[in-house]
Amino acid sequence: MRGLMQDWPMLTHRIIDHAARVHGDREIVTRSVEGPIVRTNYRNLRARALRVAQRLDREGIKLGDRVATIAWNTARHMECWYGIMGIGAVCHTVNPRLFPEQIGWIINHAQDRIVITDLTFVPLLEKIADNLPSVERYIVLTDKAHMPQTTLKNAVAYEDWIAEVDGNFKWKEFDENTAAAMCYTSGTTGDPKGVLYSHRSNVLHSLIANNGDALGATSKDTMLPVVPLFHANSWGIVFSAPAMGTKLVMPGPKLDGESVYELLSTEKVTYTAGVPTVWLMLLQHMEKNKLTLPDLKVVICGGSAMPRSMIKAFVDMGIEVRHAWGMTEMSPLGTVGALQAPYAHLTGEDKLDVLQMQGYPPFMVEMKITDDAGKELPWDGKTFGRLKVKGPAISGAYYRVDTKILDEDGYFDTGDVATMNEHGYMRITDRSKDVIKSGGEWISSIDLENLAVGHPKVAEAAVIGVYHPKWDERPLLIVQLKEGESATREDILSYMDGKIAKWWMPDDVAFVKAIPHTATGKILKTSLRDQFKDYKLPSAAA
Ligand code: AMP
Repeated sequence: MRGLMQDWPMLTHRIIDHAARVHGDREIVTRSVEGPIVRTNYRNLRARALRVAQRLDREGIKLGDRVATIAWNTARHMECWYGIMGIGAVCHTVNPRLFPEQIGWIINHAQDRIVITDLTFVPLLEKIADNLPSVERYIVLTDKAHMPQTTLKNAVAYEDWIAEVDGNFKWKEFDENTAAAMCYTSGTTGDPKGVLYSHRSNVLHSLIANNGDALGATSKDTMLPVVPLFHANSWGIVFSAPAMGTKLVMPGPKLDGESVYELLSTEKVTYTAGVPTVWLMLLQHMEKNKLTLPDLKVVICGGSAMPRSMIKAFVDMGIEVRHAWGMTEMSPLGTVGALQAPYAHLTGEDKLDVLQMQGYPPFMVEMKITDDAGKELPWDGKTFGRLKVKGPAISGAYYRVDTKILDEDGYFDTGDVATMNEHGYMRITDRSKDVIKSGGEWISSIDLENLAVGHPKVAEAAVIGVYHPKWDERPLLIVQLKEGESATREDILSYMDGKIAKWWMPDDVAFVKAIPHTATGKILKTSLRDQFKDYKLPSAAA
């Protein structure tokens, strides 16, 4: 027997309709690419998104066509998301930090018909445009006064382009499983892979994010997403914030500590989200200038492991830390480190121990850990295994790739190695390809890195496995010192001694000027492995 409830397709434009109706006056504040701070609200954002939809429709963009955006976090960018998705086209967010050849490869693979971009990226696109045959026109997110001379095909200033229609338009209706957006994973090896979100997965993901123990921002909050719209579906914030009526503060192109601090402070931001590198810059700026953030309640940090020293710095300021883990393929939220009931009473070091874990999976994310043969491992907080996930906002396949990515029970292998404890709290110990296999046992490179960055002179640390004739691999600690600091191998190792098992101690320390990063801010271990491929450990010579 079927239920007798209404059929209400979960389409993303229903979120902005709701925000405009119920939270119409709630603001979206942007540090614009042109410079000034500009303000709009959900009512106006929806009205302009409808113009984008109408103008794309007039341009001949149809259901399933791909429209790329290469842009910073701004209200204009956000209204484009809703406009593109609202006619059933696919909003393809492209990461401008990738190499130009990769950007070209991705646009060609997606066969984008239109590219919407910021002034910042016009020169970059001009360099590769000759090799982008599918692109029919470029829209620059600015007005006539700021529009540059450009060789980009059929280029037009966004404000002129949307002024050509009156906004008297209705969203299109289609099935909720229709593709809404796509985002290529930056993968450190092989070709990038296209993750294709549906309207349904995005709407469901907004409910996951808006659970009180997940991101949990409300209509009384102000959220500053430092995480870019071009990375991992903006952690879903473009959907979760309007669904709740949360005020948004968009940082535009300026993501340095001083600029982020300024917005957090002047807009009295209560929630903010970003990767550890961003918080490192913010904390350094605050420490140097003796600044505080009395309105900030919650910092959400994901993308890479959050070092304990960073968690402590926020906790000591009375700010709640939510360490989150996820991936592009998961829309992206996988776990959140809110202190749930069993841990709510904790204080001091015990509380930091829990906050350092990546957290629990909210409802609609199912997880298991297995050994290499696929056998499930216990949730005892100690046993590491391959982390596998299942849920309605998790990829089942990549765009235009035939390879099967789910196991026979429908789980996706995240490529991460983790422990799970009895309360469902997960701790990432490594990427499966980064874990150090020493004499048949595994050593977590992340744990060693987290410990090393706690040393007061260390800015950043990376650990890789280096060949050892007896143990197969042993850990090499690679350190970037803070500016102007000096330290020896012995200083660092004696700091770590006693804080980890003896056999986990790195066999050597190498100092580098700068640790290399991927386009999404993660440590680029492939490059370090390359750089240190002939490295001889002192212990190997003995
Ligand atoms: P991306 O799809 O670019 O967001 O990358 C996803 C990968 O980032 C995950 O599979 C993890 O390896 C890593 N990652 C994300 N969040 C965390 C975290 N909190 N701690 C450790 N690794 C993380």
